[in-house]
Amino acid sequence: MIDFQSILTSINKAASKEKDRGEIADYIPELAKIDVENFGIHLIDIKQNNFSAGNSDMHFSIQSISKVFSLSMALGLIGEKIWKRVDVEPSGDPFNHLSLLELENGIPRNPLINPGAIVVADILVSQLENPKKDFLAFIRNIANDNTIDFDLDVARSEQETGFRNFAAANLLKSYGNLNNDVDVVLDFYFHQCSLSMSCAQLTNTFYMFINHGKCKRENTFLTIPQVKRINAIMLTCGFYDEAGEFAFEVGLPGKSGVGGGIVALLPNKFCVATWSPGLNPKGNSKLGMLALEKLTTETQLSIF
Ligand code: GLN
Repeated sequence: MIDFQSILTSINKAASKEKDRGEIADYIPELAKIDVENFGIHLIDIKQNNFSAGNSDMHFSIQSISKVFSLSMALGLIGEKIWKRVDVEPSGDPFNHLSLLELENGIPRNPLINPGAIVVADILVSQLENPKKDFLAFIRNIANDNTIDFDLDVARSEQETGFRNFAAANLLKSYGNLNNDVDVVLDFYFHQCSLSMSCAQLTNTFYMFINHGKCKRENTFLTIPQVKRINAIMLTCGFYDEAGEFAFEVGLPGKSGVGGGIVALLPNKFCVATWSPGLNPKGNSKLGMLALEKLTTETQLSIF
């Protein structure tokens, strides 16, 4: 039996001593207000035992981690048709790059880079009666937690400064791969990214990816083939141009966000979330990556 608690405790101890904690993402001004000293980690195993250390209950902006939720909802709503509008190849580029989009005629490389997530947002805006409300209800339902909410200050802050996302959405529109108004789609996208959650809440929500598409209450949200697809995309595309490095160091599918969160999982075994707001140059949490490397090395648990 692996002693997850003592491993998390020692990871938290090592993190608290770390001097070089990376840089906070300040291109979204509201995120720049967060204290770089925060660190939290929470792990849930397949039997729903919970282990945690540090600020694991503190809420933070999950940012791009939300792209996994929007993809899950869109895949559930329109099925495999989604792949006509967004591809499933790693980009090898930063999350906000636009050059490939032009080269590949408005079909984003994958749903976890910004242009791909904006196409997924467009699908949800078309499909849902009250897009923001229905999306939030979907996540609350998976997590069985009605306290999860958008952070309206973060959404507004990104709305005011999200020039590259406006550029991406306009480019998609020019290629005919955006059916709704740019402003409407981005309003949805910025709210989606602003979701405020803790490490513990993230592991509750991602539990379905280790449990064949079933949430903690055993309600089915995704089919087994859909879970396979999303876990594969997380492995190959979840960390932008650092997906290779994450597979190499950690060896798990996962997803990061510029708020400093990372979720990673081993199907049938466990799901873990870390939060440390300082980022490395590729936009992934510096201490989060170190923590997860330590976790999979010490437990000898990875998909490889
Ligand atoms: N909302 C952020 C953006 O679109 C998400 C980026 C991220 O977390 N990598 O720039």
